Amino acid sequence: MPGKVVKVRRHEKLGWLERLYVPMIVKGLVVTSRHFFRNLRGFVSGKNRTDFVVQYPEERVDYPDAFRGMPVLVQLDNGQPRCVACGLCEFACPTDCISIVPGEIEGARIERYPEVFDIDMSRCMFCGLCEEACPEEAIVMSREVEIATYDRPSMIYEKQQLLVPESLLKRRLDFLRAEYDRQHAAAGGRS
Ligand code: SF4
Ligand code: SF4
Repeated sequence: MPGKVVKVRRHEKLGWLERLYVPMIVKGLVVTSRHFFRNLRGFVSGKNRTDFVVQYPEERVDYPDAFRGMPVLVQLDNGQPRCVACGLCEFACPTDCISIVPGEIEGARIERYPEVFDIDMSRCMFCGLCEEACPEEAIVMSREVEIATYDRPSMIYEKQQLLVPESLLKRRLDFLRAEYDRQHAAAGGRS
C-alpha cells in the first residue's frame, strides 16, 4: 500500500496571506481534519480506504524491492547453499555477527561450501554489507523482519534456518542486478 507522492511547491518569498499566519494555520487544520475524517470513514466502513494506516498483523505492507530485512542464504535447486564459504561477508560485517566454517567436497564442481553458517540476528543491523561483499549472490537481504524472541540464543540462525529457495528471492536478486547495472553504467559514463 505505497503512499501517493505529493510534490510540495516551496516559495522563496512569502505572500501576504502567508505572512498573516492565521489563514495558513486554518488551512493546515482543514488538511489535517480532512485526513482524519477520511481515515475514520475508511476504518469504520472498511471500504474505499485511502488511509496509510496498516491494521497489523491482519494487514501487511508489500515492502519495496530495496527493503532490507534479515539476511538469508540463497538455496539452489539441489537444496544446497550457493555460498562457497569464501568468508568475504564475514569480513565485511561490521558487527561480527556472521560465523562460517568452510568445508570441502572432493571432485565437485563447486568444492567449497559452508559446513557452518551462523548469523547472530541480535547483533545484525540489516546494513546489507554482507550482500554487497558477496561475489556469488549467495547472501541477500530478505523481507523478513518478524524475528523477535524472548531470549538471545534463539536469535542465532543456523544455515538450515537461513536457506531460502532462489525462486522466492527473485525480486531482490533482480533488483540487485539492475542496481549493479545502473552503477556500472554511471561509472562508465564518468570514465
Ligand atoms: S546485514 Fe550487516 S550486520 Fe547483518 S550480517 Fe550482513 S553485514 Fe552483518
Ligand atoms: S561472501 Fe557470499 S560466497 Fe562468500 S562466504 Fe559470504 S555468502 Fe558465502
